[in-house]
Amino acid sequence: MSRLSEVLLDYDPNLKDALSQLSEATTLALMVMAVWAIMRILGVRLLEESLAVRAHLPETWPGCSVCGKKLQSKGFRERKLMTFVGGICWKRRVGRCPNGCAGAQVVPLDDALGIFPYQQTGIEIQKMGCLLSIFSPFNTASQLLKQLTGISVAPGTVWTWVQKVGQQVMGKLSDDLDKLAQGILPEDEFMSDDLKSLPLVIGGDGVMVPFRPNPGSPAGKVVWREVKVAILARLNERVTKHKKQVVQLSQRRLVAVLGTIDALAPRLTVESARQQIASAVKSAWISDGGVGYWTVFHRCLKSLGVTPILDFYHAAQNLNKGLAAWLGEQTDECRQWFSTLRHRLRHGNEKWVLTELEKLLESKALSESARHALSNLYQYLETHKDHIHYDQFKKDGLPIGSGLVESACKWLVQQRFKGVGMRWSEPGFNNVLHLRLAWVNQRFDQFFPVPALSPK
Ligand SMILES: [Zn+2]
Repeated sequence: MSRLSEVLLDYDPNLKDALSQLSEATTLALMVMAVWAIMRILGVRLLEESLAVRAHLPETWPGCSVCGKKLQSKGFRERKLMTFVGGICWKRRVGRCPNGCAGAQVVPLDDALGIFPYQQTGIEIQKMGCLLSIFSPFNTASQLLKQLTGISVAPGTVWTWVQKVGQQVMGKLSDDLDKLAQGILPEDEFMSDDLKSLPLVIGGDGVMVPFRPNPGSPAGKVVWREVKVAILARLNERVTKHKKQVVQLSQRRLVAVLGTIDALAPRLTVESARQQIASAVKSAWISDGGVGYWTVFHRCLKSLGVTPILDFYHAAQNLNKGLAAWLGEQTDECRQWFSTLRHRLRHGNEKWVLTELEKLLESKALSESARHALSNLYQYLETHKDHIHYDQFKKDGLPIGSGLVESACKWLVQQRFKGVGMRWSEPGFNNVLHLRLAWVNQRFDQFFPVPALSPK
């Protein structure tokens, strides 16, 4: 037996079994797990002893909240709690009003320790449960928690923790939105000078999520509702070791809402302020042609000097659609026209493209359907004529494709909310969504008064 093992056995003979597990372990993995079991026993001991010391410190009792008379100790009462190191049990003083006023019971030590009445599990475990629920269904989160910590918690309990914290995250957001309504913007988020020098790119996209048709019941046909998502990120270009230039998003921040574009707009304004949009060296809004998201640009970003960009691939797709209606799909003529117009559009001749389309539309030889399609195409490009200066955007180091932005938006929702057979209630969805937003925006920890587990 090692020296420390002997000391521990001497301290507590009950550790004998656990210590023999360690000395008999045949592999390192078994040794590590045996040590973890010993640490838990010691952890529980250390916690219970420290709590006993605190419980016996002299107490100054406050006045009764009903009649004002000084509360009196009714003696020591037992308290149990499941913690990260195991179940602990200790006794502490409970005080009551000598006049017997209802509801005037106090437990000063619980208050000092940040324990709530009826709380059964430590905040540190609740944090882990919430963390796991950001990525997996409550059943899985409960199983993972058991595997990782050895602590059994019912899926329903994990669910209640998520509801509680989700409400806190939404409460904070609601405060930010109230302040915005009064003209007060949030504080800048800290950012290194390197990050600040990069272009800020903003985009938006919608993702459909399956909901229950009736609150409180999973029965009935799924109702699909759109979640509106916007992303803000700094565009970072770097060269890989194979000398390839790749674009990546840094300082990714997402906003999302199960609601209208009108609800998305103020959320985006709050987050853009936090991401220092007003002082960004360059900033761009990139989106496909969806009218709603362009409304967001006009309302929140235009006045801030943000460059609007129509997704090039979307523009090219529309170009192809219009030409195909005129010249027939897969014909050589169509391919040729498309190739020419696409190239011109991409390389600074967008005016020429519009003029060409105008000329075409004046021709009398067009069929009714071709005229209709080409006219739609013209309208589309004309509406976006200030958003298609692709050559200039490239020169300015701005993106011309919205793929990166759209996939980040999709990931936020897709990964957690669209599992097989899933259908959400509105409050349940909102709580998980906001927990997930807090996580991706690196604000999750601030909702838990627990430091992260990190080695010294
Ligand atoms: Zn009283």
